[in-house]
Amino acid sequence: MKILVVGGSAGGLIAAIMLGRAGHEVVVLERERLEPAADVEAAAAEAFRATAPQLAQPHVVLALCRQLMSERLPDVYRAMLDAGVVEASLASQMPASLPDRSARPGDERLTLLMTRRATIDWVLRRAAAVEPGVTLRGGERVVGLRAVPGDPPRVVGVRTERAELTADLVLDASGRRSALDRWLDELGARRSTTAVAECGLAYYSRQYRVRPGGVLPGPTTTRTVVPLDQFVIGLWGGDNDTMQLGLVPLAVDRRFRPARDPDVFTSALRTVPYYAAWLDGLEPITDVAVMGGLHNTLRRLVVDGRPVVLGLHVIGDSLCTTNPTFGRGLSMIMRNVSDLVEILDEHADDPLLQTHAVDRAIAENIEPWFADQAVGDAELLARLRHTVLGDPAPRPAPSGVDRITFAELRKASPVDPVAFRGYFTVMGMLGRRPEDVYRDARVIAAVRGALAEMDGAPPMAQPTAEELLAALSPGGGR
Ligand SMILES: Cc1cc2nc3c(=O)[nH]c(=O)nc-3n(C[C@H](O)[C@H](O)[C@H](O)COP(=O)(O)OP(=O)(O)OC[C@H]3O[C@@H](n4cnc5c(N)ncnc54)[C@H](O)[C@@H]3O)c2cc1C
Repeated sequence: MKILVVGGSAGGLIAAIMLGRAGHEVVVLERERLEPAADVEAAAAEAFRATAPQLAQPHVVLALCRQLMSERLPDVYRAMLDAGVVEASLASQMPASLPDRSARPGDERLTLLMTRRATIDWVLRRAAAVEPGVTLRGGERVVGLRAVPGDPPRVVGVRTERAELTADLVLDASGRRSALDRWLDELGARRSTTAVAECGLAYYSRQYRVRPGGVLPGPTTTRTVVPLDQFVIGLWGGDNDTMQLGLVPLAVDRRFRPARDPDVFTSALRTVPYYAAWLDGLEPITDVAVMGGLHNTLRRLVVDGRPVVLGLHVIGDSLCTTNPTFGRGLSMIMRNVSDLVEILDEHADDPLLQTHAVDRAIAENIEPWFADQAVGDAELLARLRHTVLGDPAPRPAPSGVDRITFAELRKASPVDPVAFRGYFTVMGMLGRRPEDVYRDARVIAAVRGALAEMDGAPPMAQPTAEELLAALSPGGGR
């Protein structure tokens, strides 16, 4: 099959490599440049793109992505490790508060990867560039689709600013700001439907390198993302002795606007002693990167049981975006593209069957995670809005006899080994759906027991509203 991929970030490149290896002829059309930088540090320095600003923000690779990558693209996986990406065992994520830290069967599957996002894309660009059957065309902006009219229309290619290109299949990997619905309008097709659930957060983050001789409170593979009373705060391990730190407040919380200033950002991080201790062993290597406009979205091309178009599928953020602090994007890409490769193998000649099969795979493997995120974010946002904006206190989420909530699981995970693994199973997106974990009798008993014992235990030390405001004032409260 001749396949045109719109967008050459993680989604487009992973799809190109996997589809190229499955015997397809793939052309990636990316509006920005696609040549890999000279090395990973040069890649990090030029990571920011206005079309995909998240490339400069903290990333982690969850267990699902790691597993699929190591199974389906072992040479690319190896190249990531060679580039400095670090495998982070489940043991490396265990906090000191966990009483039983012994290994259990299945722990190895929950291994994560610690890396800056730029390093992943650097490896993917290099792998795609040498992949037989894959052509990378940078500086090529797609402006519309070409289609044979019908109900639904059948896509047969794309229009770029310079040319009209023909294909058997088009993949939209153009990210969260995809113009797909406008392109469908131009064809006279029905629009896709997009479910939207509020995420409501903004990212202020910075990258660091371990200071020579610097003493850190834990291994550089640590990832600790904690929802505090007034904001979410996070630390992510990185490749090549780097680490990533971030403040993630409500997007409407204007107090954080000065945090784009590095001094203010540092002062705000220092209000939380756990993170201040990390800062002492690190030196910054970037400015503060800021990103808002985050949403949970899930697009479907089968609407009311009928495809809106044939010969086109969506992957990556054009298909689904979720709260970035959970780090699900790359895992969804690996899952979705792996499914797509198998579906194309089975239904190459029947675009209708193909489209329905893709939609079923999305319902099975993507939608449960989107739904889980929507519920979790509604709880988190209600709580933050209550403390920050004075909105009414949220009603506790229904936690029936036969079910716990994600918030309960997260709270119990640092002190109970079963809850800890349940939490990392949900976070790793591996093996079981979130709902199956929340309804697992063993997990329920462990979480309930842990929460009863924790009753009254102080949460992580954090600033009062006055302390935070002082740290966020221009000059960082100095
Ligand atoms: C703050 C933040 C933190 C995140 N953290 C994590 C994390 O820890 N772990 C994780 O797995 N995921 C994370 N994600 C999600 C992850 O970044 C995305 O899922 C991923 O980048 C999606 O890749 P993509 O290829 O679909 O889209 P994008 O990366 O957005 O790339 C789209 C590409 O398409 C190109 N393009 C757009 N329009 C056109 C056009 N018309 N013609 C040609 N090219 C076009 C753009 O230039 C761009 O290169 C995070 C996201 C955010 C916002």
